Amino acid sequence: MNHVLHLRSLISGRTFRPDEIDYVDPEFGTDGIVDVVYDYDLIKRHISRESLRDNRDYSVWRYKPLLPVEPDATVPPLQIGWTPLYSTPRLAADLGLRHLWVKDDGRNPTASFKDRASVIAVVKAQERGAQIITTASTGNAAAALSGICASVGQANVIFVPEKAPQAKVAQLLAYGSTVMLVRGKYDDAFELCLQAADAYGWYNRNTGFNPYMSEGKKTATLEICEQMSWQAPDRIFVSVGDGCIIGGLHKGLKDLLALGWIDHMPKLMGVQAAGSNYLAEAWENGEDVLTKAPIDDHTVADSISAGLPRDRLKAMAAVTETDGAYITVTDEEILAAIPALARGSGVFAEPAGAAAYAGLVKAVEQGLVSADERIVVLNTGSGLKDVAGAMKGVELSGTQAYRVAPDLEDLRRVMRSI
Ligand SMILES: *Cc1c(COP(=O)(O)O)cnc(C)c1O
Repeated sequence: MNHVLHLRSLISGRTFRPDEIDYVDPEFGTDGIVDVVYDYDLIKRHISRESLRDNRDYSVWRYKPLLPVEPDATVPPLQIGWTPLYSTPRLAADLGLRHLWVKDDGRNPTASFKDRASVIAVVKAQERGAQIITTASTGNAAAALSGICASVGQANVIFVPEKAPQAKVAQLLAYGSTVMLVRGKYDDAFELCLQAADAYGWYNRNTGFNPYMSEGKKTATLEICEQMSWQAPDRIFVSVGDGCIIGGLHKGLKDLLALGWIDHMPKLMGVQAAGSNYLAEAWENGEDVLTKAPIDDHTVADSISAGLPRDRLKAMAAVTETDGAYITVTDEEILAAIPALARGSGVFAEPAGAAAYAGLVKAVEQGLVSADERIVVLNTGSGLKDVAGAMKGVELSGTQAYRVAPDLEDLRRVMRSI
């Protein structure tokens, strides 16, 4: 048995046995997001800070007793999680800060944070004996599901907007998924995928809708706190689209507080693109995200483009309950953050990953953070995911390559001009 007590509806508080509902509280349809509730006393019998010290499994599975899977579940072979947390003193000094870390989730097997969630989907689907797993995605959740499915030979069908970056589509095709390029945006792909899952009986990984995705995503804050020797940071900056990552980070921190492994709740700082700012707008204006209409989203950071954030209830709670904030950054600020982060830390991020750093820059400008706070910036995806985006950022920074003939004379000419 795993350590899940029940699933709790975020809207009504009603609880369900895990075998009672498939994904959401049926009373509220796709809005009926549920939270996975654990028996922490039971968990404490299977895992402790001391047992972790001797645990050589450097992947998300080191926290298995805190995850909604059976203790003896066979897990896919790809090594997911335990990504590096780099101390970045030069970047900190540039911003007038003293303690700054960058966690690089571009280092996951399919090169984004989404591996943490998709691997849980694959384990849950196999628990249920599902023939086919499906998801809609802006690209990374799909690539993650696709790669992890390939590692275990699991069939899957993927729905992405037709304009998804080429690298992400290439991953899907290379991994052998059945790929549907939807003529429309992410929200259209999401709706079609929900209908398809229902019509064909496929296991549905969709973000927000599937309650176990937050559970996989929470492993990032479990890792951050363990990597910081259980001295939790003061703030964590993360970019936000659907809101599942920020909700998952919050969940991990709540787990750690409930276990008594950390002594304070870090403030969660959600960073949104100015053109996809549903949650930032709702937070600033105190709007109810259950009634707020979708917005017309457009941003260069495709991974955080969402007209109707699917995990908006958890995303709002993550910021309000931790006394954090939502910050918006322009596309230009996002693109400029790619080379800034790369040069200051060696971490190469896709636009949505760099957005978290752009949010920190803005928070410093606005006086929202103080110099002695311990701050973590989460890079959620590798720069190789969107080379066109990286090149735009580099152009903005005014750097370019030099053209040289293959002889030393010409090199000398070029070197003199620099
Ligand atoms: C999915 C994704 C995000 C945002 O996560 P949400 O759960 O949609 O808020 C941020 N960055 C990258 C690279 C992503 O793939």
